[in-house]
Amino acid sequence: MTPRRRILATALLAAGSLAVSSASAYVYCGFHDRRYEMRAYHFNSEFWVDLVVAQSAKWDRVHPLFSINRTRSRTTPVGQDGQSVIGWLTEADLNRHYGLSWAGTAGWTVTWTDGTCGRLLESDMFFNPGITLFAPQTAVPYNLGFQEIALHELGHAATLDHEDRGLAVMTAGGVVSDVLHNDDKVGWIRSAAQKFNPLPTPIRDMGVFPIRNGRSSKVYASLSPTTVARGADVAIRDFTVENLSSVFPFEGPTFRVVLEETSSGATIEIGTFSWGRFEPFSHWSGDLTYTVPSGTPPSSYRVVAIFQGRDSDATNDRAVLGTIRVR
Ligand SMILES: [Zn+2]
Repeated sequence: MTPRRRILATALLAAGSLAVSSASAYVYCGFHDRRYEMRAYHFNSEFWVDLVVAQSAKWDRVHPLFSINRTRSRTTPVGQDGQSVIGWLTEADLNRHYGLSWAGTAGWTVTWTDGTCGRLLESDMFFNPGITLFAPQTAVPYNLGFQEIALHELGHAATLDHEDRGLAVMTAGGVVSDVLHNDDKVGWIRSAAQKFNPLPTPIRDMGVFPIRNGRSSKVYASLSPTTVARGADVAIRDFTVENLSSVFPFEGPTFRVVLEETSSGATIEIGTFSWGRFEPFSHWSGDLTYTVPSGTPPSSYRVVAIFQGRDSDATNDRAVLGTIRVR
């Protein structure tokens, strides 16, 4: 639905005044020298296997690696046997075969490399069979759901270790989203470069995320206040914009900020933000304040930032930053 309302809020132009930081280094160990075959052993629905394959496509987009096959079976081959498996193990089996536990954990990946950090020989990836966490990750705070855990565990199979110097799905903490951030991509490209010597992926990709890398931990975006009088201001805190292309700067990226009525989905635009130029593999995090138009019908609204334009990956073009009640 296209809003006919006049935009009452002042568009905040972020050009020049807000610093954009480059992606940092990354921790990885080992390398691949060929397509990496894994086999999922599933005892029931293929739904969860399909989700793993969908997540693997995000890593493959940066540099192609995974080839995931599937077998319906009540048992999963365990231990170092030359076959990289994806499975759902009981606590007893996880404990017996790997000396690991599901306590406080939803996924484990065990890897074997040639020498200390040589070629990756095998990785066995297991998910807690008790996990039934699947929810489309469109609002904050994210639930730590299956797709985030699968994306993270696949990162380990792609040789990446934990990374907390910037936003990354490879965080050691539980505050994640279901997309790859700059640092994830930098790490995977550097690891792949050891053997594959890939060309940088020529994509154009701006993304907006309801999350920020704080000083000591990651924080989800928040709105203040959460009940807003018509004509008053609402501050959006702690969100991030990234240019996820390793190659191209993005000229003039612009985002709309809208109120989206929670039941009807009808939208009211409250402003925009933009840059003159956004450098490749860089990000901005911060707070912006907008005015709720005085004609806004009292109701509950999602506050959503939406990228204006076309890029290679539409999955990160929209972020729900929270919900407010307008009175
Ligand atoms: Zn991990």
